[in-house]
Formats: sequence, structure tokens, C-alpha cells
Amino acid sequence: MDRQMVPAGVPERRMTAWHNPTKRAQSVVINDTGNAFAFVVQPGETKELDSRYDRAINTRDCGREDCHRTGWFCTRGHDGNVVGGGAPLLRRVGHSDTLDPSLDPDAQARKSVEAEIDREVERERILAGARARRSAELEEANKLLAGDRPVRGKTGG
Ligand SMILES: [Zn+2]
Repeated sequence: MDRQMVPAGVPERRMTAWHNPTKRAQSVVINDTGNAFAFVVQPGETKELDSRYDRAINTRDCGREDCHRTGWFCTRGHDGNVVGGGAPLLRRVGHSDTLDPSLDPDAQARKSVEAEIDREVERERILAGARARRSAELEEANKLLAGDRPVRGKTGG
């Protein structure tokens, strides 16, 4: 794992503010060379954390050629599309990152409702076909039965 370039002897501690726009607490366990701690942000809360841990929280695809050269995901803090990480729903304050639809619970819920409607429509279509076939079969059976039974009174018997 690479570190921020900090000139020797100059202690620099950059912080990143993380906002939780969701209705559920977002948490991630940060493991810093054996020291593990949980970073928890409550709904609507904004909390700062050392910027060294940015990549543990959000994995971003910034789309820049020079970042892609060193690995598919952004290593330098550019704004981009959040595609993963320990807490992908946390948003960096002051940045214009986007959330990949595959990680967006709202998009997932919409998709799930749409899929449910599609399934219901398909089920209705199959049922309608089955009903039509059954109805045709019944009609055919009734015709056969009517043909088998001579109607008394009309045949003079
Ligand atoms: Zn980048």
C-alpha cells in the first residue's frame, strides 16, 4: 500500500470529512498495520478521518489515464465514480464523487420493484395463455359431448 508523499520530518496530517447521507449507520473497520479500529458515521452525521484511510472507505474510478496505469482505481484522491470500498455510501465532503448504481440502495430498490413488476406481467401473460388454452379445450370438449348425446325430443326418439 502506498502512502501520501510527505517530505521527511514534516508531520502532515490531512483529514477527510465523510458524510453519511443514508438512513443507516455506515461503518468500516480500518486496519492500520495491525491496529484495527471501527470508523462509524451515524445517519446525517459528518465525521473527519485521516486522509490516509480514504481508499479503505471509498474505492473510486477517476477515469484518468495516469491513475489507470498504476492500477484500475484512483490512488490520488481525484473525484470519480465510487465502485467499492469498506463504506461506499459515505460521501467525501467537498467532492463531486458519484456512486455506482450497483452500490446505490435506492437504485437497487427501484430495480427490484421493476423486476417484480416484470415478473408479475410475465406471470399474467402465462396465465392468460393457459386460460385461453383451457377455455379452447373446454369448448372443444363441450362440442364433443354435445355431439355424443342425441338431444331427446328433437330426434323424435
Ligand atoms: Zn485518479
